[in-house]
Amino acid sequence: MTIDLQFDRDHLWHPYTSTSNPLPCYPVVRAEGVEIELEGGQRLIDGMSSWWSTIHGYQHPELSHAAKQQIDAMSHVMFGGLTHEPAVELGKKLLAMTAPKLNKLFLSDSGSVAVEVALKMALQFQQGVGQLQRTQVLTIRGGYHGDTFAAMSVCDPVNGMHSLFADSLSKAHFLPRPTTAVGQPLTAADEQALATGFADHGETLAAVIVEPLVQGAGGMHFYGSAYLERLATLCQQHGVLLIFDEIATGFGRTGKLFAYEHTSVVPDILCLGKALTGGTMTLAATLATDEVAAGVCASAAGVFMHGPTFMANPLACAVANASMAILQRGDWQQQVDAIEQQLTAQLAPCQQLAQVTDVRVFGAIGVVETKRAVDVAAIQQEFTRLGVWIRPFGKLVYIMPPYIISPQQLSQLTQALTRVLALPSVYQASS
Ligand SMILES: *Cc1c(COP(=O)(O)O)cnc(C)c1O
Repeated sequence: MTIDLQFDRDHLWHPYTSTSNPLPCYPVVRAEGVEIELEGGQRLIDGMSSWWSTIHGYQHPELSHAAKQQIDAMSHVMFGGLTHEPAVELGKKLLAMTAPKLNKLFLSDSGSVAVEVALKMALQFQQGVGQLQRTQVLTIRGGYHGDTFAAMSVCDPVNGMHSLFADSLSKAHFLPRPTTAVGQPLTAADEQALATGFADHGETLAAVIVEPLVQGAGGMHFYGSAYLERLATLCQQHGVLLIFDEIATGFGRTGKLFAYEHTSVVPDILCLGKALTGGTMTLAATLATDEVAAGVCASAAGVFMHGPTFMANPLACAVANASMAILQRGDWQQQVDAIEQQLTAQLAPCQQLAQVTDVRVFGAIGVVETKRAVDVAAIQQEFTRLGVWIRPFGKLVYIMPPYIISPQQLSQLTQALTRVLALPSVYQASS
């Protein structure tokens, strides 16, 4: 059996590529550990964790076992009026892993939906506490929160392509991308921007939503906890809810189980997804404080107005429980720390390359920023030739490998990255 690439090309949409003139796709037959096997037998070392999700590697025996056990008991039942052990167990695990004040959990299908849920909770909360004028949302530039409409409205207005949907998107307020660096005090520019933002909108905001410390798909930008600490103070002073989107940063990626643990801040609402099932299937969670939940349920509706068909899908919850159990054993901490050290040492030489403007590492995330945008088709051809799977976007070539990657495998990724970025042929002709 061979995969019908012509059919794929002619009929299947892939993310962010044209259907008229699609970028090439590589056919995969299996994936195991840190390796993706292509049709024909070539194996690629995965530098992407399938977009932040496969933190324990592919086909982890405990995750596969959990799925098989659960599929024989019950793949799915509706969550309206019914409940089940996988959901209750996941609730217990997630509440135990997160800050004590996060005490209520809404399970949904995907990260974007978790963000929709968070924003809707914030709006219903403000109605419930009688703050009917609080209908606006504020965020920072350079963010990414998903592709559905409310999520899109808080993505970076430039690379989030707001112009395409200008008349249909609800208007969020944007502050500049933070300039406060990791480990540094709040910059004067950030202090000013935050003060102005709250002076202008503090009385009409329902919520602020940000990715704490690491902005992912919006530009792979890192910023300091001092920013979040000031932001949290302002939110509290103004009665504005603080939402942290940790869909990318959650579950150890930054060196703490959750990025907010690098700060003194606990958000009112927390969005989780991506690595929740260890990359096995889609599941997301929105956690909230008791206060938020009480406000929501005091609103005119009396209930939270959301209920996806596949809410708390038992199969996904069972796999998530297995993934959380692996995390609870704690090996991730040493693994992520070791990846961070190795990335820091082995990506540093990229700084010498003519086309490279910046190299940065945070936890198990390594980013090389280039002067000109890369030619995705050309650069992927070079990467796959060297036996690695790295998928850049724009001027950002980055790796965030599964935590179980060996030092040798990680060296192969960083060597490939360094070699390929030295080739003039992998860049677009003009930026
Ligand atoms: C990926 C991502 C989302 C969207 O999650 P999906 O599961 O793709 O809908 C939202 N926020 C952040 C920070 C993400 O990285």
